[in-house]
Amino acid sequence: MSKYQHIKQKAYEANMQLPKLGLVLFTFGNVSAADRELGVFAIKPSGVPYDELTPEKMVIVDFDGNTIEGDLRPSSDTKTHAVLYKHWDGINGIVHTHSTYATAWAQAQRCIPVFGTTHADHLTVDVPCAPPMSDELIAGDYEYQTGHQIINHFKENDLDHQEVEMILVGNHAPFTWGKTAEKAVYNSAVLEAVAHMAHLTEQIDNYAPRLKDSLIKKHYERKHGPDSYYGQ
Ligand SMILES: [Zn+2]
Repeated sequence: MSKYQHIKQKAYEANMQLPKLGLVLFTFGNVSAADRELGVFAIKPSGVPYDELTPEKMVIVDFDGNTIEGDLRPSSDTKTHAVLYKHWDGINGIVHTHSTYATAWAQAQRCIPVFGTTHADHLTVDVPCAPPMSDELIAGDYEYQTGHQIINHFKENDLDHQEVEMILVGNHAPFTWGKTAEKAVYNSAVLEAVAHMAHLTEQIDNYAPRLKDSLIKKHYERKHGPDSYYGQ
């Protein structure tokens, strides 16, 4: 048995959640699961339909994007995953989808305003949207540069990747991450729900105000603060 079996299994299970949660059509989307000690991650193979996936088909890649084990070609977005693992500590799972509502905000190149407590339960700021890639970056090593586009946007906006576990890439679609692949998938589903609600909010009232600070703080801290009391 492969010494990478544990992350192949995790990546497989997390990938299979995407169609179940309605976050992907056909083969759009991919999840990876990393093992920091081994310095590798397991990722979905490119272009393989979800109903044909097995744990054995997952491809093992290092944080420089080199394939270490696997017969199939890894997801075309593999270099973006590699860059994020290499530069950001504490994340062990990454998800990329073209889920409808989150992608619509990315296409409109807009951050998702924090309109309500569903959003504030997960993050206290607007969901960030990185600018679209420049022609120079698109012509270069596109997927690798997409990773740097995300990291640079976090740096420039003083965002912490352990607090804000999601981003929209302008003109493209969302990426989410987390301490585990499971958490990264959860974040993708939350992002899609928040994107849908924010869209409907603006449909009802184009001038809907952002959530007030007291409620943002209250909701975030009851789940994440030192005195959190949400859940068991
Ligand atoms: Zn994409």
